[in-house]
Amino acid sequence: MSNQVRVRFAPSPTGFMHLGNIRTALLNYLFAKQQEGVLILRIEDTDVLRNVSEAGLQIVKDLEWLGISYDEGPYFQSDRTKIYQEQLDDLMENQKVYRCFCTTEELDVKRKDQVAKKLPPRYDRTCLHLSNDQIKQKIASGKLFIWRFRINEDSVFFVDSMARKNLSFEMKHFSDFALTRSDGSFTFLFTNFVDDWLMGITHVIRGEDHLSNTAMQAALFDAFAVQMPIVWHLPMLCNQEGQKLSKRDFGFSLNDLKAEGFLPQAIENYLAIIGGSFKEEIQSLDELAHNFDFENIHTTGAIRYDLDKLIWINHKWIERLDARELVSLVVPFLPQPHEQIAEAKLLFLIEKVKRDCRTLKDFVGELRFCFEEPEIDLGLIDEKVGKDKANLIATILDDLVGYVPKPELFVETLKREGKEKGLKPKEFFSVVRYLLTGSFDGLGIHDLFEMLDQEKIISRLRKL
Ligand code: GLU
Repeated sequence: MSNQVRVRFAPSPTGFMHLGNIRTALLNYLFAKQQEGVLILRIEDTDVLRNVSEAGLQIVKDLEWLGISYDEGPYFQSDRTKIYQEQLDDLMENQKVYRCFCTTEELDVKRKDQVAKKLPPRYDRTCLHLSNDQIKQKIASGKLFIWRFRINEDSVFFVDSMARKNLSFEMKHFSDFALTRSDGSFTFLFTNFVDDWLMGITHVIRGEDHLSNTAMQAALFDAFAVQMPIVWHLPMLCNQEGQKLSKRDFGFSLNDLKAEGFLPQAIENYLAIIGGSFKEEIQSLDELAHNFDFENIHTTGAIRYDLDKLIWINHKWIERLDARELVSLVVPFLPQPHEQIAEAKLLFLIEKVKRDCRTLKDFVGELRFCFEEPEIDLGLIDEKVGKDKANLIATILDDLVGYVPKPELFVETLKREGKEKGLKPKEFFSVVRYLLTGSFDGLGIHDLFEMLDQEKIISRLRKL
């Protein structure tokens, strides 16, 4: 067998994509790229009760949006039942599994009893000791059962980990675990193991929440006498209060981030650099794949999610893309009338304001004056420059509307006349800007003249 690296992203389609599983996908992707290996997409959809319909296909679409490409898959575990059954049959033949007829209620009572006695809650193996006749009887009476894997309590498994020097699991702390559910479907623990083995996975990169599952999966690899992949458990992402990141934290779900106008490049860039230290923080996927140092990365504890940093990175990415790349991303956010604006003009507008935009949604605010009449409150102009100066500016502008088609001349004359009337440039320019855009600060008058149609400029200047 070749020693090519083979990794997988194996999400369960139980909901939307979020920062935690995007990070897992991303690090698998970067590792595969760096090692010239293979990334497999495997949708772990055997838990019918927890699956959300269409979520599997949504994951495929989200990965495409993120630009995280894979070399094999998507495989859907629901299509692979026969494969899992064959391996279960093998375990049955070798008597490594047994039927368990205990109901959830019975197991609950036992667990509570153990907890009350301060014993670790473990399955008491009631069903391991059933005779063949008892088993036949139960089956005949229609009792449902699951298959449990019989662990060897004396064994200790050492697992190769990229993060911690050595992981070891003493199986005496674990229960005989379920490989099937009472409806006959296979559990995550089993299908995940079978696929990692048969798909030739060399490295398992996944969230720290799977640490204890690793022990049980090590037992399965041992039962089939096959080599276990190297594992790497990623620290959990937590919020500023130190709690596990959840739906309540803005930006946790990919849908939130998309809707707010975050770029895929920025989301990935952010998720790659948190938990490490990088001299150059802004990096593309290709750059990250080249530079990412898997040897020296934060691998324990929790990683704090910092929305401000994500926004900063998004801003940097907006600046980094040229208007041509940005235009198709910005357009879906713009109000309808943008359709009347020629592409060349839109490029010009986007280029002009991109430095002030932290998200794609910010473009809407920055460009609103191009699509909608700004709301003008003349009282604000009086407050800004005083009533007398406002009147002087109004008189000058009245004379100047004829120069609108010649922006150079307009600005020159405005400067000269303003000066003659004792006004400061800042005063008349900010008033003109306010009339044109609804904001006293922002772009230069030349740019605004480029951005707006002449009739719009004239009608807005006339409002004073
Ligand atoms: N299906 C598991 C999950 O979504 C992934 C397990 C793994 O990566 O091994 O949490």
